[in-house]
Amino acid sequence: MSFVPMRAGHVPQLAIPDRVLWQAHLDAVQAGTVQTVTAYDSVNASAMPAGKVHMGYMNGRYQNIAQVEQLFPPKAGSSVDISITVTGSAAAGMFDCETGNGVPGDCPTFWRLARNAGFEYPIIYCPASWTTAVRSAMTTAGIASTQYLLIAAHYGIGAHICGSCGYPESDGTQWTDVGTYDISLLGPRFVAALFPANTPPAPPAPPKVGDLMLCSQPQTTHGATHFVGIDSKGNGFHVRVVTGKSTSVEAIKGFTGLDPAAPPSFGLQPLNESDATAGQVLSAGAMTADGKSFIHAVCPWGGPWSTVTTALP
Ligand SMILES: [Zn+2]
Repeated sequence: MSFVPMRAGHVPQLAIPDRVLWQAHLDAVQAGTVQTVTAYDSVNASAMPAGKVHMGYMNGRYQNIAQVEQLFPPKAGSSVDISITVTGSAAAGMFDCETGNGVPGDCPTFWRLARNAGFEYPIIYCPASWTTAVRSAMTTAGIASTQYLLIAAHYGIGAHICGSCGYPESDGTQWTDVGTYDISLLGPRFVAALFPANTPPAPPAPPKVGDLMLCSQPQTTHGATHFVGIDSKGNGFHVRVVTGKSTSVEAIKGFTGLDPAAPPSFGLQPLNESDATAGQVLSAGAMTADGKSFIHAVCPWGGPWSTVTTALP
């Protein structure tokens, strides 16, 4: 391996921007469904803004971890400093693995040294184009991806965490160099590892395509779009979307036992205004899997769904 010190970040990158996926990821970040924290690194400690995560070099040409710790003292549960080694043969919080510093094959050695020194989740930084090789070297060495954290450098498409951009998934991404320092976006595994006391329980997973079998055309009424579906277990759901504001998913009580493999005759009909006045705004119907019953559900505006089961002749 090389001992020529490089600074994290100056890595030529392939541009594979899928802006749609990237935007979807950012939306998730902004909606709070993905927990993230911003990290700064620089060869000049005083160039970095205040924040929760700062990185500094413990060896190489730019040794500055002592200054980083002085300027940004770590506080349990709220801020941390991460030491960077520019060689895989030293223990530190993070190995800056890039051309000039080392190769993917050096990562297992670094990991063992860091673990022995007490770093529970040693961090590997590498160009996004190296992620596959780094993970492969770790797997070959018997080190699972759950036992380390990976920051991929991928510039040019804005703040994101690799995985939805065309590069393999990472735990964090260094996404820009603002001139005097670099910025990384670190994801939920970092938040859990760096700030364990601050990690709230994960929110319940929203239904995914595949879990939720959509049976109705979206219908728009009263400023919201609705559709009805059944999940993989045959339970009925009502989904209500107010574009740009909220999405809610409500179980339709009694809509159970439907056969997702055999599309039922299913409909969603926003009723007219006179019906809305009477309280019946949405309705849906479906045949049960055994073909013996028809379930009809109605939802008074703002109220819970109620269902009626009718035996078929
Ligand atoms: Zn990326």
